[in-house]
Amino acid sequence: MAAKVSQLATIQVDLDGLWTNLQYYGHDAPVSPDIVFTSGLRRYLDLFEELGIKATFFVIGKDVGIPEKKVLLQEAHEKGHELANHTFTHPFGFRKLSASQQQAEIEQGERAIGSITGKKPRGFKAPGYDVDTKILSLLAEKGYLYDSSVIPTPAYPLLMKINSILTRSVSRNHGPRWSWGMAPNAPYHPSSKKVWRKGNNPLLELPCTTFPVLRIPIHATFAVKLGYPFFRGALEVVKKRAIPLNYEFHAADLSDTIIDSRLGHLQGIPIEKRMALVRKMLAAISTNYELRTSIELAQEFITHGH
Ligand SMILES: [Zn+2]
Repeated sequence: MAAKVSQLATIQVDLDGLWTNLQYYGHDAPVSPDIVFTSGLRRYLDLFEELGIKATFFVIGKDVGIPEKKVLLQEAHEKGHELANHTFTHPFGFRKLSASQQQAEIEQGERAIGSITGKKPRGFKAPGYDVDTKILSLLAEKGYLYDSSVIPTPAYPLLMKINSILTRSVSRNHGPRWSWGMAPNAPYHPSSKKVWRKGNNPLLELPCTTFPVLRIPIHATFAVKLGYPFFRGALEVVKKRAIPLNYEFHAADLSDTIIDSRLGHLQGIPIEKRMALVRKMLAAISTNYELRTSIELAQEFITHGH
């Protein structure tokens, strides 16, 4: 018998390379070599193979132009993972770009992914969770089935501020807004007025699942720092509330240890420890849920409702 949508989970891995992470802290860096791909993405592909997991990778189009990255992305596609669009150059402040710049970022990203898969991606995630209703309408017009740029928590602006103070980096005022704490913590069609409100956009928003009621982030960026009991507790509550899970990782979670004082949030935990933790987290998700790629989850949600 088919699983109910509430019993489904999707695993998303954002392929923000070393250069993208440096860009976040205001530094220019070459697109290759990239330890985040050669060690981080490599480990995710092997781990998914070992655990029989099909995931969704959010690809930055520019990376497809680098042969050693393209080989890994081709492998991901051949193994049945979904490749979704994470723009062409991952510009921070995406929603402040002009409509034509946004369109160019989306279309160039599509072409890059299409050179691997032979077709246009139908899932999108904005850099730094930076969307507005105009971008969501543009995606719907362009035939996208889902977006995954919303994180339903009021806490992000504050967390970004704290991170910028701790790492003495530029304070950023784009990305999630406190009002996103009011967004549904499960798939929904957004309104044309507010990103966080339910409405008639045919595009489905698959928000990054947060802790029910408290709405604190629980995705891997936090769980890897806070440890397994935090993750396990959150998973338990999400499951009890019958919420389909959209769990987000980043390739850098499993990259070889990066020693670079410019990269605040990537410092600290040895790779052996991160590897053991992520393996345990993935095993717990696949024991508690039926896994789908994000496009499959979106399709099942649209066909069967909730
Ligand atoms: Zn990103």
